[in-house]
Amino acid sequence: MNGVIYCRVSTKEQVEGTSLETQREACLQYAATRGITVERIFEEQGESAKFKDRTELLKLIAFCRSRKNIQALIVWKVDRFARNVEDHFAVKRELLKFGTAIHSVTEPIDDSPIGKFTETIFAAMAECDNGIRAHRCVEGMRHKLETGIFPWKPPLGYLTINPRKQKKSQSDVRDQERFPIIQEACRLVLSGSYTKADILRFFHERGLTHLSGKPIRSQNVDTIFANKFYAGILTDPWNGKEYKGKHEAMVTPEEFGAIQRILDPRSRHIAHIKKRSDFPLRSFIRCSACMRPMTASWSKGRHKRYAYYHCYSKVCSRYGRGVPGDTMMMEFLQLLGRCALRPRLVPVIKKRLLRGAEQALTEQRSQTERHQKQLAGLEKEKHELIDMRRRKLISDAEFASDRSKLDDDMNVEREAIANSEARSRFDEADADNVIRFAADPGGYWSVIGYDYRQRFQHAIFHEGLVEGQFGTAKKSDAFMLIDELSRPKFDHVHHGVDFWNRVILQMTKLSAIIRESKIFESGQKGLVPNSDTGVAGDISVATEGRSVEASC
Ligand SMILES: [Zn+2]
Repeated sequence: MNGVIYCRVSTKEQVEGTSLETQREACLQYAATRGITVERIFEEQGESAKFKDRTELLKLIAFCRSRKNIQALIVWKVDRFARNVEDHFAVKRELLKFGTAIHSVTEPIDDSPIGKFTETIFAAMAECDNGIRAHRCVEGMRHKLETGIFPWKPPLGYLTINPRKQKKSQSDVRDQERFPIIQEACRLVLSGSYTKADILRFFHERGLTHLSGKPIRSQNVDTIFANKFYAGILTDPWNGKEYKGKHEAMVTPEEFGAIQRILDPRSRHIAHIKKRSDFPLRSFIRCSACMRPMTASWSKGRHKRYAYYHCYSKVCSRYGRGVPGDTMMMEFLQLLGRCALRPRLVPVIKKRLLRGAEQALTEQRSQTERHQKQLAGLEKEKHELIDMRRRKLISDAEFASDRSKLDDDMNVEREAIANSEARSRFDEADADNVIRFAADPGGYWSVIGYDYRQRFQHAIFHEGLVEGQFGTAKKSDAFMLIDELSRPKFDHVHHGVDFWNRVILQMTKLSAIIRESKIFESGQKGLVPNSDTGVAGDISVATEGRSVEASC
């Protein structure tokens, strides 16, 4: 009789002393005592009991098929080759086609009814064993969760420190680039005056992307704000149990709850958001004590309502101490007045802006060219890959994984090209627009709708303002430039191409807001009260703001 031997050992068994050698020895001895000539020994190493990873077993089946004279397959235990009962009998049936029967060294299986029964039992035990292993794997991950470590890929804003792809043993750390942006978005949502669309726009303006470089879509916004991970909570996906994570939380659990209530489509917050136009500076101005965005509300006086801005954080030392809306508005308009561009500077600014635009355009063109070159290279690689596939030099799996990687890279390049092409040119009309607005920002700001006000505010002070510290407010590069050019010539700085790129990008955005808001079209030159945008007291304050002659 001819036979083959199949041995397999898992890493765990190796540790416990069941080596391939002992299995092989036992099988050889079994063959010798029964007069079986061993034609070949197949040995498999590896933890996985999954069928597709069992290359030696597949070779063995092919061997029996081609030889057709192998009557015995000797294994040490039936759990060597089957993951479950079904697998076991499938392999057995397949082998029987070539006249090969299974012999187990340690288990009494044969064609008698008792033998068949025991065989089923042993195969079932193998299945159970693998089930236990899978269970242990789940247990391992659950244990990680219990110790505060998230065993999977963390959400956007966090990174895993994982040298050499080892199992995770440390908690995730903040992604320096993305963490602050998402955290700021959480604060904006908490301020109660931002909708999901606003947040998506904010993400795009701040350049937030996935790790792959792909932009954020609106459904991602939902996923981000619904993830308890950001509140420092880990959730067991199997039973929903929650654990405290060791990673740095982005928001407190209370803030997380508040975000859910605000973004819940059934919540009453919609009405709240509609009324936000009463308070254009809400969430734009931060509390001087805790730096959280301030919210605003109406307070009932004896005869009328008073608007006031206040910090919503109960743990803040300034909680409950509001600043009157009129005061805040006046200070803000005075600040805008101080930013106004003086007439004598108009020609200088215009010249500098157009020259900067030229520079930025050149840079943008060379960037586009670079991306196009990259894309062409990737396309060539893809052709080569297809060619290799045709010549059967790589497997289907390799082909599929390489191709999807290439496709991803190509999409990143295409997106970059589209982005830089979409950046519209900044031309003389844009420069005139921006300059006209900059000559009287307070005046124009007072007459436009709420949404535009918010966008203008951010265009000038991209980081928002801190209550009581308007004097040291950080302006966007474009308005810094206006400041700089107002100073004596020897005080001017030479700016690099990055600076000009930023300025032109900001100015292009500002010009787009100006065009959308149509402030220059109806011939209104400030100070025309617009019934649905005004706050009581706005107009007189606006005049004051305008009259504060710039001494920038
Ligand atoms: Zn505060």
